[in-house]
Amino acid sequence: MGGLIIMSAGEPGPMNRPGSPARRPVRAVIFDAGNTLLRMNYGVIADHLRTRGRAASPEEVEEAELRARVRLDPHLAPGAASTESTVTHGRYLRYLLEHLAITDDGEIDAIARWRRGYNLPVGLWNRADPEALAAIRRVREAGRVAGVISNSNGSVRSILEETGLAAHLDFIIDSSVVGVEKPDPRIFQLGLREAGVAPAEAVYVGDLYSVDVLGARAAGLDGILASCRFLQLVASSPAPASSHFDTLPHLHATPELKAPCPDDKKFAVVAELAREFRSRFETIDIDGARILFPEGWGLVRASNTNPYLTLRFEGPTVEAVENMQRMVYDALRRFPYVTLPA
Ligand SMILES: [Mg+2]
Repeated sequence: MGGLIIMSAGEPGPMNRPGSPARRPVRAVIFDAGNTLLRMNYGVIADHLRTRGRAASPEEVEEAELRARVRLDPHLAPGAASTESTVTHGRYLRYLLEHLAITDDGEIDAIARWRRGYNLPVGLWNRADPEALAAIRRVREAGRVAGVISNSNGSVRSILEETGLAAHLDFIIDSSVVGVEKPDPRIFQLGLREAGVAPAEAVYVGDLYSVDVLGARAAGLDGILASCRFLQLVASSPAPASSHFDTLPHLHATPELKAPCPDDKKFAVVAELAREFRSRFETIDIDGARILFPEGWGLVRASNTNPYLTLRFEGPTVEAVENMQRMVYDALRRFPYVTLPA
């Protein structure tokens, strides 16, 4: 992580990507907290797994966490699940445990219960990254503002204080305190105001592409992915990057399906669908209707430019995908002007 930040703090070159808007010299570096300045306490996870008869070293937990994070990222695309939702936390832990060959549902549930009650309200994220302090100090010594924007539950300030990082930071913004979370551009705008700089003078450094990089860029900051540790892991192995995921259960997904629907009706259909499924399943209606079924998800969106709805489904088996698809198709049959895909 450190090398990347030191390279970016004010020097021309890497910040001025071809095709990006002209950027000014960097005056502020704003960091994410979890998995950027802070890391999970891998040791207590390893200790807990040992009490359940599962041998895993802290290093193995750390490696599993890196892989889990890369898999989690696409689920957090703008408009999808919140990083702070119970669905996201559950999925993250399940991915981590799968990489440690723990796939039994009962066992995963028991470990999830332990995690939800551990060390509240701080939880497992209470260790500073070994390079975090040096990175922040380099930014400050170069005369730049250093701040934090974190999706958190109100505890990030106290964690940064306890780990000794807060004293070196100019500001700390916690999503629970300000009431808006990444990737919403408004939380980045709050950071720019604290830093007293324009968007083109700030960079944001985080570990999740969907939330940190895309969110920062939408607010006009440059977003930098702190992914050197995963690259290091891949580089140290002779196998190709894709093989790091080969042992995992693969998900089945439909391609993007198109259902013709008149322009003046398509948005109302999606809104009605979201309303109907919300009574039975967690449903996100920020951009279309994303229905979180117990086994996977379905998404129905109205095309912005064309007279049709787009549909997608993803689940662990072909049968699960077909089941979810059938439920949504049944609901859509009530709208005679919608033509279902073959
Ligand atoms: Mg993070």
